[in-house]
Amino acid sequence: MACLLPLRSRLFWLERKRSAGSSIHGNTGSGKRWLSLASMTDQMLLAVANVAEASMKYGGPVYIAIGFGLILMVAYAYLYIVFPSLNPDLFSRALHFGLGAVLFCNILFNYCMCIFTKPGTTALLNEGYHLAAGRDSCRFCKHCRRAKPPLAHHCSVCNTCVLRMDHHCPWMNNCIGFFNYRYFILFVLYLFVGSGYAAITAWRCLADAHSIVHPFLVLVSSFAISTSACFSVGLLSCWHVYLALTAQSTIDFLKNWGSAREVKQQGKTWHNPYNLGPVANWQEVFDVHGRFWWILWLVPKLQMKKGTGVASPVKLGSQGIVQLHDEQTLNARELAMHQML
Ligand SMILES: [Zn+2]
Ligand SMILES: [Zn+2]
Repeated sequence: MACLLPLRSRLFWLERKRSAGSSIHGNTGSGKRWLSLASMTDQMLLAVANVAEASMKYGGPVYIAIGFGLILMVAYAYLYIVFPSLNPDLFSRALHFGLGAVLFCNILFNYCMCIFTKPGTTALLNEGYHLAAGRDSCRFCKHCRRAKPPLAHHCSVCNTCVLRMDHHCPWMNNCIGFFNYRYFILFVLYLFVGSGYAAITAWRCLADAHSIVHPFLVLVSSFAISTSACFSVGLLSCWHVYLALTAQSTIDFLKNWGSAREVKQQGKTWHNPYNLGPVANWQEVFDVHGRFWWILWLVPKLQMKKGTGVASPVKLGSQGIVQLHDEQTLNARELAMHQML
């Protein structure tokens, strides 16, 4: 779904330009040319977006099978081809085996948790929240016909509103939201380190002339998969670490970027009220607090994340960090007031 966002934004931009073109040029030749060109582009982009959405809706299990298949193939090549060719020293072997096992287990654990943990939807919210939201003129989803708390977004693939939605991930066949975002970040980080490690050890094995006797094709495929995964997941990891440290989701980043530009044109500075500072933001995402938070966020955790995904702590000017109850969530008017400081 993340890849659809730029397409949707482009369609929105084209629509605005087309309206502007229509009002400026009227029925002139250049106005008509612009309208037909924009219409053709619209149709093509819409077709691409629809195909991508349909593949995510119906092809989810296939994406998951491919994901598991690639991970298991690289693990097989490491265990049966790369590992036996490593330094015969016992300590070195134990170190490589331990590192490989930790990375493999964490990749599989976080992948499974991300697939099977529901991200949290507005259907879970109690009647009290909907009543309070209606009174405070909270956002409303016309598809779900329910109140939509701040940071919740409607997913057209899952056909529901997801709390603190980041994006819909085809590789997980699931939305990434409040309850499973920490598993997603850990998955991409462990996958980045794991694929980098697998690529380096496979390269050393390939460079060794004696290892040619091993199944060469499997080793070359493993090297190619892990190298490409390392680069692509590396970029994705950097992006999500930045988002987590600044308390934004992929969807909200696009909205915040637009708001900041608009506010800047008015000579004011825009602040994200959910940004509590890098450390507090990181602790909030991973639900880790206390003395050892800096190591605990890396540890696999089955326990459900605390909170409802509705009321996020906010930093409000002189009041500092404020934790609100679900029924006290800021409505659009109050939020806009605090964002323009
Ligand atoms: Zn909805
Ligand atoms: Zn979804």
